[in-house]
Amino acid sequence: MDEHMILVEEAQEIILAHVEPTDTVEIPVWQAAGRPLAHDAATDIDLAPFASSAMDGYALHAADLAAASSDAPVALQVVGHEAAGHVFEGCIERGCAVRIMTGAPVPAGADAVVKYEVVEVLEGDGNEGSRVRFTAPVNFGENIREAGLEAHAGEVVMRAGEVCTPAGCGLLASAGHMSVSVHRAPRVAIISLGTELVAPNCVPARGQIRDANAFALMAQAADVGAEPTYLGIAPDDEVAIRELVLQAIAEYDFVVTSGGASAGDYDYVTALARREGEVLFDRVSMRPGKAITFGLVQGVPYLGLSGNPAAASVGFEMLARPAIRKMLGYPAGLRPRQCARVMHDVKKSQARRFYDRAHVERDAQTGELQVRSARSQNSALLGTLHHANCLLTVPDGPKGYAAGDMVEVVRIDVAEGVEL
Ligand code: AMP
Ligand code: MG
Repeated sequence: MDEHMILVEEAQEIILAHVEPTDTVEIPVWQAAGRPLAHDAATDIDLAPFASSAMDGYALHAADLAAASSDAPVALQVVGHEAAGHVFEGCIERGCAVRIMTGAPVPAGADAVVKYEVVEVLEGDGNEGSRVRFTAPVNFGENIREAGLEAHAGEVVMRAGEVCTPAGCGLLASAGHMSVSVHRAPRVAIISLGTELVAPNCVPARGQIRDANAFALMAQAADVGAEPTYLGIAPDDEVAIRELVLQAIAEYDFVVTSGGASAGDYDYVTALARREGEVLFDRVSMRPGKAITFGLVQGVPYLGLSGNPAAASVGFEMLARPAIRKMLGYPAGLRPRQCARVMHDVKKSQARRFYDRAHVERDAQTGELQVRSARSQNSALLGTLHHANCLLTVPDGPKGYAAGDMVEVVRIDVAEGVEL
């Protein structure tokens, strides 16, 4: 292994050590779904704020019905009723009942609710002034939702770093939060480097190719929760590259370039980062994408990915994605790994770690997880990555795999923290 080359895990650690969560912003509570909270969120009231009925029915003293049966029914006097917004403020005496709706506060004195369907109205319309009859006992506390069942006033209902869910947005709302504090989406600048590159709406002349990387990287940045901006293409010209990269450094939280990262004649990326800042690594033991430069330029993290499209994309996945997650305040964690049986030989032509674009699925008959690599691992191909749901990890070193071996795959279609 050449002396500059470091392991993927080392590269991840270095990047993570050089990014911090962004400043916080308040967003409408419903927009917090899928994002980690920046601060603990407490409730200002008991949740639920009062004991309520879980049924439409009658609130009463359970003891009054202790001996009730169809042979010896018990009749109670209806002394009040509750409808939405109309609360019975009195205390229910023994021998009395109050007509109550689902969700209404249970009146003082009552300790159970009997559902409407099993109650017979003897006189009146069932509301105040009626008499009603019961033919069975009811348990103490039955059909009553306790006050403070979910949380008590002052209690934290969601911790900083906890990823909110849609249900969590509802919980935060009931705890009094119209808006919550999250880490601002990092602004990520995406730049493409190469004299041969043209925009996708141009038909390339001979020797030109369309800039594909910027759009894959923009989508990857947006997918992880960043706010990406495409700053365009700089030709392989030291002055032009410097100008665009430094503009990005001045305005963005994280700068990503693709192209110009290998040791070719026209590659200025590492040299630029070294001159304008500090290079923390410039080679990572991985295929695709060994030529990856990471550094700080004026304190801003700068990732220079190699130009081969699959290399740029896998490089972003392995290195930029965890960094952006940290900036957003997510708890540490990588994409889920799975152990699967590889269905063919995997030859190793070089010692660096291979991340082969592959597809893993459960065999319908045996239930076994099986993985198959895309036929071509050419790093110029984006289609193989598009069809892949995982990266088959072939460890650093000379050894490949034989058909039938158990291997590890990284699920690039499943979010971090998901248990498979
Ligand atoms: P480089 O890292 O500049 O040596 O580029 C390696 C290969 O990737 C070359 O074939 C480039 O033409 C190609 N390439 C570089 N940038 C892009 C891009 N933005 N979109 C598509 N292909 C690219
Ligand atoms: Mg180039």
